[in-house]
Amino acid sequence: MTETTLETLREELQRINLELLELLSRRGTVVQQVQAIKQRDGLPTYAPEREQAMLAALTAANRGPFPDDTIRHLFREVFRASVALMEAGQRKVLRVGRAPGSPDVRIPVGGAEIGGAPVVIAGPCAVEDEAQLDAVGRRLRQLGVRLLRGGAYKSRSSPYAFQGLGRRGLELLRDVARRYGLAVVTEVTDTRHVALVAAHADVLQVGARNMHNYELLREAGAAGKPVLLKRGWSATIEEFLWAAEYAVLSGNEQVILCERGIRTFETQTRNTLDVSAVALLRAQSRLPVVVDVSHAAGRRDILAPLARAALAAGAQGVMVEVHPNPAAARSDAQQQLDLDEFERFLAAVGLQS
Ligand code: PEP
Ligand code: MN
Repeated sequence: MTETTLETLREELQRINLELLELLSRRGTVVQQVQAIKQRDGLPTYAPEREQAMLAALTAANRGPFPDDTIRHLFREVFRASVALMEAGQRKVLRVGRAPGSPDVRIPVGGAEIGGAPVVIAGPCAVEDEAQLDAVGRRLRQLGVRLLRGGAYKSRSSPYAFQGLGRRGLELLRDVARRYGLAVVTEVTDTRHVALVAAHADVLQVGARNMHNYELLREAGAAGKPVLLKRGWSATIEEFLWAAEYAVLSGNEQVILCERGIRTFETQTRNTLDVSAVALLRAQSRLPVVVDVSHAAGRRDILAPLARAALAAGAQGVMVEVHPNPAAARSDAQQQLDLDEFERFLAAVGLQS
């Protein structure tokens, strides 16, 4: 008889468990509906004052046998699980992310296409004068390189360093590019310059120092030109992708990710080229990935092996600084290749056309 009663009670407990589960699941469904409304209206997920009010109502209604503290403890767990459910619903799939069935982004620029076969983006660190840029443009043309880089607005770490020629630099880039049938990649450092730079450039570069400048990313993304986004030297891969997402959310899918080295304890290179990032970005994103070997190394003697490593890891292009007379360069003298070195670099990397 006793055994039968115990059995019956155990069955009763199991039924109650299932009822509790049913109620918890219903509660979860309602929580998701609340979350949808909160998201629509821009309200925060977590509302501590609501939790306090619900706990007060529960302890007021509590007739035992559990003490109020136990009831509070149990329901706090329920609330915590509900907040976790809401936050899980909030996590967004990035537009720049790789989803099944979404093709890689390919970006036609001038006569080149970024995102397919490896491309070369080459030119001086900074535009200095007509003769300098003409010499580089002419050699690029001879070598079949189609993308000319060069800074007109320079983001320099020191305010005393050469800041670039500004508008005049943009005009020189446009002239030389037209003369030799090249496309222009140049940096925009300020939201106030976006329209001007977009009027002269084929690709807007956002530099490492500005990777976290979200207003600039929005404006550059909205300018109607492809954006080449450089990774900040302390940015994680996730932060880099979020930055790209800012530009893409402006309606422009044409964003190129550029790994350019990150800051580490090593002193023999200016930065450390993060080859893992290249492989991870290729795996996680649909956007083209290129590698700036010059700013990664900060020296000219190891650029070819770094470029080969980048391409082996999946990079779809290489950026390299080239100057007719690096020793006289007004910025980054120690890392720029002269024109003959550049030709040998292309051969060593297998990038000559
Ligand atoms: C550049 O490419 O001209 C440049 C300044 O590079 P970074 O933003 O990667 O330092
Ligand atoms: Mn430079």
